[in-house]
Amino acid sequence: MSELTEYQGKATMEKITSLAKRRGFVFQSSEIYGGQSGAWDYGPLGIELKNRIQAMWWKEMTRLHDNIVGLDAAIFMHPRTWEASGHVENFTDPLVDCKKCKARFRTDMISEENLAAKKCPDCGGELTDARNFNLMFKSHIGPAEDTASIIYLRPETAQGIYVNYKNIIQSNRMKIPFGIAQVGKAFRNEIVTKNFIFRTCEFEQMEMQYFVKPGTDEECFNDWRNQRWAYYEKLGVKMDHLRWYKHEKLAHYAKDAYDIEYLFPMGWRELEGIHNRTNYDLGRHAEFSGKDMQYIDQDNNNERYIPFIIETSAGLTRNVLMILCDAYDEEQVAEKGNDDDWRTVLRFHPDLAPVTVAILPLMKKDGLAEMAQDIRKNLQDDYATDYDQSGAIGRRYRRQDEAGTPFCVTVDYESKEDKTVTLRFRDSMEQVRVPIEELSTRLRQEIKSYKRIK
Ligand code: ATP
Repeated sequence: MSELTEYQGKATMEKITSLAKRRGFVFQSSEIYGGQSGAWDYGPLGIELKNRIQAMWWKEMTRLHDNIVGLDAAIFMHPRTWEASGHVENFTDPLVDCKKCKARFRTDMISEENLAAKKCPDCGGELTDARNFNLMFKSHIGPAEDTASIIYLRPETAQGIYVNYKNIIQSNRMKIPFGIAQVGKAFRNEIVTKNFIFRTCEFEQMEMQYFVKPGTDEECFNDWRNQRWAYYEKLGVKMDHLRWYKHEKLAHYAKDAYDIEYLFPMGWRELEGIHNRTNYDLGRHAEFSGKDMQYIDQDNNNERYIPFIIETSAGLTRNVLMILCDAYDEEQVAEKGNDDDWRTVLRFHPDLAPVTVAILPLMKKDGLAEMAQDIRKNLQDDYATDYDQSGAIGRRYRRQDEAGTPFCVTVDYESKEDKTVTLRFRDSMEQVRVPIEELSTRLRQEIKSYKRIK
């Protein structure tokens, strides 16, 4: 079996979905009513994982770049925004329905033969003619439901950045090249939502828009492609599960576009897009708002121009799915004191793991539980901790493996004697004795030097 087929066999979408529910990563929205399609709720472990992925991205983009600042723009924007951006006119998917089984498809998702023969790929029934369907959710703001009250739920976070670009130059004295980063919800009335949280109607994006001088855009575009690739390497993602996809058919605003694709259990799919959006967006906002969107280069004889924009646009919720799939592993193991010889383990990078360290007293009695609680209190300020005192120790290790906890600390009778504990490593299952007072420093070192072994 090749490495990739072996991986795909292990991490099926069914297994990921079921583990996510069982362990409280992701639940179906409004499940007690039969569920709301295209919507999911992030449980205790899921929200921690999502927050950490977001924090890593935010740090990478803002703290590690002197010239990138953050923004949190509103979801509701003036409806003219979406006319200027081209979404009202162009943000459509062509769809067809099956007259027999009523299934609905995006035409670009079915084969050319089926499309030409107007034949349903599911049941062979007859398909309707293709019609364009706008993906923006539309509602009304205020009491009157007329055209003047139309409001859209933003389908991308990018436009909030473009309309604020002058505010940010003025308030923060930014000079080109500079970037604006934002994480937030976006909404798309997707025709087909499947594969768990891969494609949903409500999702989160992590977008960074980089404003550059025309003529320097191609170099910047290549530079951002390299940076985004290196970022996933830093996250510890399996690099043979990532590849580039170059867009041949470009969106109306783009000069060049590449996707970073990940090998999900259902195949290679887009994870993040890197786009050269030219000066289209700012040019259109200048036209539609009547405001001057030019940059004035004070270091260069007040030269004026509308900047080009290089965009890096990643799905946060799609990154959660990628990290879950990437971390998922099953293996047959022989561990001392553990009669369960198969384990499911999530090999999260310790910086991403929802729980960094679990404290487990061997027994509840004889003061071991109290000792373990004290250790937990001492670590809590610096690390995300869990405490578990119920069940056989082997079962408790397995539970932590499945939640992706990289370190377990076991408090036993020896701990009372010599003030040491067992530190167990998730990936290798190795155990070492560590003095309690050195635990925090040791964990920090282990996290810093972490290297994935499988
Ligand atoms: P697709 O072709 O898959 O519909 P797209 O090319 O329209 O996606 P972009 O508009 O470039 O996607 O969005 C940037 C990123 O936002 C994507 O790479 C993806 O990670 C994420 N994303 C887009 N649509 C969804 C969705 N419906 N659910 C979850 N994440 C999404």
